[in-house]
Parts: sequence; C-alpha cells; structure tokens
Amino acid sequence: MKLSFTASQETFRTEISEWLETRLTGAFSDIRGVTSQTAAAQRRILWEQELGRARWSAIGWPEEYGGRAADLAEQVIFAEEYARARAPGRLGHMGVELAGPTILAFGSNDQKQRFLPSISAGQEMWCQGYSEPNAGSDLANVNTKARLQEGPSGKQWVIEGQKIWTSLAQFADWCFVICRTEPASQGRHGLSYLLVPMHQPGIDIRPIRQMTGESDFNEVFFDKAVTAEENIVGEPGKGWQVAMGTLSFERGVSTLAQQMHFRNELSEIIALANANGKSSEPLIRQRIAKAWRGLQSMRASALRMLSHTDAGTLTGPQFTYKIFWASWHQQLGELAMDVMGKDGEMTGSDYQLSDLTRLFLFSRADTIYAGTNQIQRNLIAERALGLPKEPRG
Ligand SMILES: Cc1cc2nc3c(=O)[nH]c(=O)nc-3n(C[C@H](O)[C@H](O)[C@H](O)COP(=O)(O)OP(=O)(O)OC[C@H]3O[C@@H](n4cnc5c(N)ncnc54)[C@H](O)[C@@H]3O)c2cc1C
Repeated sequence: MKLSFTASQETFRTEISEWLETRLTGAFSDIRGVTSQTAAAQRRILWEQELGRARWSAIGWPEEYGGRAADLAEQVIFAEEYARARAPGRLGHMGVELAGPTILAFGSNDQKQRFLPSISAGQEMWCQGYSEPNAGSDLANVNTKARLQEGPSGKQWVIEGQKIWTSLAQFADWCFVICRTEPASQGRHGLSYLLVPMHQPGIDIRPIRQMTGESDFNEVFFDKAVTAEENIVGEPGKGWQVAMGTLSFERGVSTLAQQMHFRNELSEIIALANANGKSSEPLIRQRIAKAWRGLQSMRASALRMLSHTDAGTLTGPQFTYKIFWASWHQQLGELAMDVMGKDGEMTGSDYQLSDLTRLFLFSRADTIYAGTNQIQRNLIAERALGLPKEPRG
C-alpha cells in the first residue's frame, strides 16, 4: 500500500502535533516520555481524560461515541505524531484498542451507548480476563464459570474462577471476561464474553512482581462476582467468536503507534552508541542497520495488514506480523544491552532501571503475550499455509 499525505492531512498533522506539544510542555510535562506501564498511573488516567475531552482518544471511532471517524491515513498520522511527541504510554489502551472495538463490532446498541463514551472520555479503564493457570495458549480450556441467577435488581451472572496475567487490573474499572456458561461444555463451545465491573467484593486482585520490579499484571480471583444479565457481548455460549474478534484488534492501528515507539527506542540506542563510541564497532553497526531495515519492513507490513482489516478474521500478513515484531523487539533489547555495556547491568537490591534496561527485560515477554512464537508458527503452518493440524491428545 502506498501512503502519501494530502495538504488537508498535513494540516491535521500540524493540529495534533501542536496540541500535544502544548500539553506536554505544560500541564502534563511531568509524564512526557513515560514508557513504564504502571508509573504515574493516576496522572496518566488524567491524561486519558485530557485526550478524551479533545476527542483525541479514539479518533477512528464514530463521532457519536467520542471519536472523529478518522480514516486510516489520519490514524497513521496521529500514531506518528503521538510517538514523535514522546507522549506517555496509554493506560487506557485495553479499552480503546480492545474492549471498545469489540463492543463496536459485536455489542448491542445499549452496550455501545453505555460503554463507548466512557472509554473514549478516559473515564473508565479496562482489563482483559482471558488467561487462566490452565488456559494460556490453549485458551479454549477456560474453566472460570458463570451462571445466571436472580439478584436484587433482576437476573445477573454470578462468576467463579481465576484469571492470571491480567495486565493493569489494579487500575481497571471493568474487565472483559471469557467464562464457561454451559456447565458440561468443552473447548470453544459454551463460552460467553461478559463485561464485569471490577469494584465489587467478589473480586480479589493480587499483583505479580516481574523482573523489572514492577507489577504490570495480576492474578484476579472471582468469588461470586456479579454482572448484570445484559452485560454479555454476543449470545450466551457463543463467546469464542467475540473473543477471537478482540484478538484481531490487537493487530489494529495501535501497531503503528507501537512501531513509532520502537523507532524512538532505536533512536535512543543510536544516540548512545554515538556517544560512547560503540557505533564504531562493525558488528554493532550491522545490528543497528538490521534493526532499521526491520522497522521499514514492519511499517510496510502493518499498512498492508491494516488495509485489509476485518473484525474476527485474519489475512495473510496478519499471521506473520506478531512473530516478526516480537522477535525483532527482543533483538533490539539485546542490542541495547550490548550498546550500554556494563552501564546496563543492575547491582544491589535497590537498583534503578534505565529505559533501555527495562526495554531489554520487558521484551522477554514480547514472544509470550498476544500468542507465543510457537503458537504463531502453528497458526502460520495450519491457517496460512494449509499444513496438517498438529496432533492433539
Ligand atoms: C506481559 C504479559 C502480559 C499479559 N497480559 C495479559 C492480559 O492482560 N490478559 C490475559 O488474559 N492474558 C495476558 N497475558 C497472558 C498471555 O496471553 C499468556 O501468557 C500466553 O497466552 C501464553 O500462555 P501461558 O503463559 O499459559 O503459557 P503456556 O500456554 O503454558 O505455554 C508454555 C510454553 O509452551 C508452548 N506451547 C504451548 N502450547 C503449544 C503448542 N500447541 N505447540 C507448541 N508450543 C506450545 C508455548 O509456546 C510456551 O513456550 C500476558 C502475558 C504477558 C507475558
């Protein structure tokens, strides 16, 4: 796909870059450049609201839900300018990029009215309740159960079970949860997609500490947690298709913002290599050049992928994209460590992580979340190349 920008699109670029520059040198200068998922969380929720007030939060959404009905080129421009300005990582991204698009594609009109404006306004944060201790790669093995029961104000779903690796649950107001609502069902049958409020006695959130020292994700226990009968997306027992639709949005326009963030990281590594002399080492120079080539491939591939996006289905480029960026980013983390040399090492128990050391440590997770590399290879083999399915016990 060839992408060139018109004069009116360049005006749009100026509008967003000026807006960002004003805020990030003014009221929000303290969170400029924050890349950690959990740092300055309350300030970043206020930032979500600032974006929402100016309708910059979910620009691809229809205007009636707080968006700008922006086309692909405008969304590309927004992603580029957001990263160029070193605006903070989006604490609202699970709502804006996953829950919202899912509700837009599969939700009822009432659900759209209820949830979309509060997501785009940054008023409600979301998390993703998919993985369980025995349901990660094998997501269809979900064992968390929900049943409909009479409650104080009508019928409600009562949920029991455990989720794990639930990113940002500690800041979330709502969670989209896959549960088994047909007791004797197995695999992808009999699952439902529920929207569950997080602030209630039946939910217990226990942070998991990572090697970065932060707790981005959590265990979440549901002990007779409840949600209203109408908070189900799609039909009861048919949540698998909705759940897969959400995963396809992970490969949406946000990938462009992610790439711009990667570009910032590569620029930081190049600046450091120039400053400490590593850029004169031939092998480091080669790896920097290879990283830059990878970025260009990713951009071309993302634009090709986005021009064929359809909720719930994956096309050729989408099968290969995840494994490419995840492996690329892990190599970037290794390059960062080699450029930093001993400055990247951590010593003592009260060490502070530089952004590049955090990049290296966190990038170990890139080949796990949103589908591990092994699972991506299975997908490519079976669904893109049509090879025989792997034997299952
Ligand atoms: C940083 C981070 C954030 C996350 N955030 C969330 C979140 O917000 N919400 C959420 O629900 N989940 C989240 N996850 C969970 C993530 O989706 C799972 O970790 C992932 O799906 C893998 O599942 P698992 O950890 O259970 O590993 P397993 O599925 O147990 O896999 C273990 C190993 O076996 C391999 N393997 C498994 N099956 C096969 C197979 N059939 N063929 C070949 N190899 C196989 C895997 O590739 C892996 O190497 C997050 C994970 C990380 C790391």
